[in-house]
Amino acid sequence: MTEIIYGSELSSELKQSMRAKVDAWVKEGKRKPCLAVILVGDNPASVSYVRGKEKACQAVGIDTQTLRLDANISQADLESEIRKCSNDSKVDGILIQLPLPIGLDEDRAIACVDPNKDVDGLHPLNFGKFFMNQPSFIPCTPLGIMELLKRMHCDPQGKHAVVIGRSKLVGTPVARLLQNANATVTICHSHTANLKQIANMADILIVAVGKAKIIDASYIKEGAYVIDVGVNSVDGHLCGDVDFDSALGKAGAITPVPKGVGPMTICMLLQNTITAYERGELHDN
Ligand code: NAP
Repeated sequence: MTEIIYGSELSSELKQSMRAKVDAWVKEGKRKPCLAVILVGDNPASVSYVRGKEKACQAVGIDTQTLRLDANISQADLESEIRKCSNDSKVDGILIQLPLPIGLDEDRAIACVDPNKDVDGLHPLNFGKFFMNQPSFIPCTPLGIMELLKRMHCDPQGKHAVVIGRSKLVGTPVARLLQNANATVTICHSHTANLKQIANMADILIVAVGKAKIIDASYIKEGAYVIDVGVNSVDGHLCGDVDFDSALGKAGAITPVPKGVGPMTICMLLQNTITAYERGELHDN
């Protein structure tokens, strides 16, 4: 039987302990952690993601400061706003809601975030430190995936993990985390030959492609742990990259879409913000 692992449930539990931590700080007379969110333009999906992040922060007692900037802002002005946030001692974490409107350079914008406040883990310094196994911020979705595997009682050590997708946001960092957890990792992408054969060798299968239901039961080894990262809209309904109904009965455990990886991504953003606050407090005292 396939176990369905809900990120929505796991994130609620983790958020409770974050709430307790923040409440304790407030009781001690300390300020609350604060996340600054930079939203450029009014792309409806971005606006809705930002609202979700603000609500999640509120639920655990993290303050938010959302900076709404015009879609026509110049690169120089955007960078200057990001630097201002970086220099604000009351701000612990900074998140730039991506994608930025066409014409703005995301890499240059991200490089303006103070690496100590880079709770999305996308600053080149954090990326480099992560790959050098030095303390750093790690992107939220890969962190959430590792928590979901723990929840599945899956220890990656000695297992063959296949990651389909090699983006810098998901596929590449999650492959690194799995390697660090002593899995043997194969990374697949759009040029991979024999994807089905490779996927069939996976004890752990992570799918981060962005194509609705491209992975069905024929790609899944009996009993595999399957994490479906994809979020696709089909006829007004959200679905993952894995054909969930087909995978049921074949996978050992699987995450659904929605209520799977998505809530864990936000939860890890909160966790990274709390970590940034704690590191800042240590530094100040
Ligand atoms: P991305 O940057 O577009 O990367 C997609 C990856 O899939 C690329 O490496 C691409 O290969 C590979 N790919 C494309 N077609 C393929 C195929 N037919 N067979 C094998 N590999 C293929 O996307 P992303 O940012 O990683 O996101 C992936 C999905 O996860 C999207 O649906 C996104 O919305 C979702 N997502 C969800 C969350 C969440 O919190 N739930 C967070 C982030 C992303 P190449 O490198 O060769 O092009």
